[in-house]
Amino acid sequence: MEKLIIEKALSNGATDCAIISVKTILEKLTPPILDGYPQKLSYLSNPKRMNINSFFNGAKSILICIYQYWNNEKNYENKLSNISDPYEFLKSKGYRVEFIKSINKKKYRISRYALVDEYHKKIMENLEKTLDDLKLEIKGLDGKIFVDSSPVFEKKLAAIAGLGFQGRNTLLINPEYGSYIFIGGIALSIDAEYIIPQLGEIKCGECNLCERMCPTAALKDYKLLPSKCISFWTTHNNGNDIPPEIINSSSYIFGCDICQEFCPYNTKAKKAERTIF
Ligand code: SF4
Ligand code: SF4
Repeated sequence: MEKLIIEKALSNGATDCAIISVKTILEKLTPPILDGYPQKLSYLSNPKRMNINSFFNGAKSILICIYQYWNNEKNYENKLSNISDPYEFLKSKGYRVEFIKSINKKKYRISRYALVDEYHKKIMENLEKTLDDLKLEIKGLDGKIFVDSSPVFEKKLAAIAGLGFQGRNTLLINPEYGSYIFIGGIALSIDAEYIIPQLGEIKCGECNLCERMCPTAALKDYKLLPSKCISFWTTHNNGNDIPPEIINSSSYIFGCDICQEFCPYNTKAKKAERTIF
């Protein structure tokens, strides 16, 4: 059954995927460390997030998928130069970016994830198709889809599933495909498990390029301080009351990829054979 589930997810376009049982989640999922997090992110400490059954009552396992959205063959500068008005561009994708009107930068940058198609919608549609396919094949199967805005610790679950590790920049890094990846999945009503074996100790090691290159010193010891992070201020906080030293510290006006741009796992990332982006 695991083979069938994995095959369906891959044939629908996931770059890679795995399945973890709820038993394994209960054994391995650890709560996040949120020292110094602003009130705005306090929802992350809700204990319900630790229990997948709070998300989908009757969950026995989860299928977790990654989708590569950027690789070294895509030309970032080209994509950016095709945008005539960053405010209109981001607004058309549903982002709340009123604050951008007051930023006056001749040269600006936007996170790569915002340059691709609206990802929540696209991943939801992809996983809905996979769930429908599975319902046809496996009698009695039910499920509920999650994306990165759902009350699920998707990065931690993906790491438990063997789809990568959380790097010093706090992001999920897949050893083959890097960190320009979206995560989504389906909580399933059936008991199943297919964890990808970890290939030895592939982690950050002595590298700390992301910490060194972060223009605001927002990274320290595998932790992120949101109050110093350009990405937090320009995306999660909708740019409200953005400190001038944060917006002046780089060219980024929406999101920030600096701690990914220098990561050796991204500079050497393989282009995915499959993805929906
Ligand atoms: S997103 Fe930018 S500001 Fe935030 S930690 Fe990474 S490099 Fe630093
Ligand atoms: S830049 Fe280096 S330290 Fe940072 S996440 Fe990548 S490998 Fe880890």
